[in-house]
Amino acid sequence: MKTIAIITLLIGSFSITAQSQFTFPELGYSFDALESFIDKTTMEIHYTRHHKAYHANFVKAADELKLNGMSIEAIFNQVSQYPATIRNNGGGYFNHKLFWEVMSPNGGGEPSKNLLRIIEKGFGSFNVFKSEFEAAAKGQFGSGWAWLAVDSNGKLFVLSTPNQDNPLMDVLEKRGTPILALDVWEHAYYLHYQNKRGNYVENFWKVVDWKVVESKYNEAIQ
Ligand code: MN
Repeated sequence: MKTIAIITLLIGSFSITAQSQFTFPELGYSFDALESFIDKTTMEIHYTRHHKAYHANFVKAADELKLNGMSIEAIFNQVSQYPATIRNNGGGYFNHKLFWEVMSPNGGGEPSKNLLRIIEKGFGSFNVFKSEFEAAAKGQFGSGWAWLAVDSNGKLFVLSTPNQDNPLMDVLEKRGTPILALDVWEHAYYLHYQNKRGNYVENFWKVVDWKVVESKYNEAIQ
């Protein structure tokens, strides 16, 4: 009995260290599924190389710092206390995961009546929101992200962040829960759009999955 218990314990502790809770997500569509927005080659390189590298580097660093018992939200909530590799790679891991989730080959169009009303309440109109979001994405100098986020009062706001920062991080002045993300690093669009970031940003609307954005909003205001 004692031997079995020790073996079970060993297997248990091995599986804890070998498998991080921070799993690499499946892509819910093929690499060429979003070609109305982004080409197959960019998607493939972005997901299998860029995102994968952020994930691997984050898992390694989180393991070394023994952050594996924490949620990613709790880590971001005090990210300023950790080495920059957690901020950069944890951000890279989380941000891309959200980015893939909020896009779909069946996306585009308008949000549901419910979400539309919330957006109109926050920004005046859906078009004003889109303009604000586009301005944030186009105006982010250098690498970064554009976001739609929900603050602690349930109010929507648009912002952009540099590098792999996101609205959950304690390094930001205005914080909230991100529900829509757009990657504006050159690696996200350069093969297809070259220097024309504006065209890339404007085509994003063709693939936004508003149902996912709405469910993220509902989760955020719980
Ligand atoms: Mn990226």
